[in-house]
Amino acid sequence: MILNLFSKIMPSYRFGKLINMDINIFLNKSLIIFDVDNTLVFSEGTETKKEIIDWFKKINENYKCICLSNSRTIKKRKDKISKLLGCQIFLSIFKKPSKKLFKSIKDTYNVEASKVIIVGDRIFPDILFGNLNGAVTVLVEPINNKENILIRIIRKIERFSLFLIDSFGYNKK
Ligand SMILES: [Mg+2]
Repeated sequence: MILNLFSKIMPSYRFGKLINMDINIFLNKSLIIFDVDNTLVFSEGTETKKEIIDWFKKINENYKCICLSNSRTIKKRKDKISKLLGCQIFLSIFKKPSKKLFKSIKDTYNVEASKVIIVGDRIFPDILFGNLNGAVTVLVEPINNKENILIRIIRKIERFSLFLIDSFGYNKK
């Protein structure tokens, strides 16, 4: 059971900074889903680093990309972020890691799960969302660490989970 849990929270790939990730893994994929807060923009904000905007625009020109957020404030921030990155923010009543959310994305973009990549800075919910739904998952470092106390605590649990996965040698790669 614990190994099954590990397999659900273990990213297919792990990189440091988003902009240094190996973009070859996007080849032959139909849809790239990016988490918003702390993956592309500062947490709960509408701004980001110029290097991220530049990197993202290149990816967005070559692949079908959408942004997805569980944040309660995403509706308010949606237009600004969408303009900043030139990318659609997918809104839904469902939240990551919901299966219904994944299904609605699959139906909207007419893609197979194996052709979808999820890129995010959190295991719960980003990686879990992708793994539970048969997508490829990519964990990257958060762009900064200004976050509320709850998320900081969850991050510690996430780091400990990754530590356990590494310690047991339970890696896909
Ligand atoms: Mg995030």
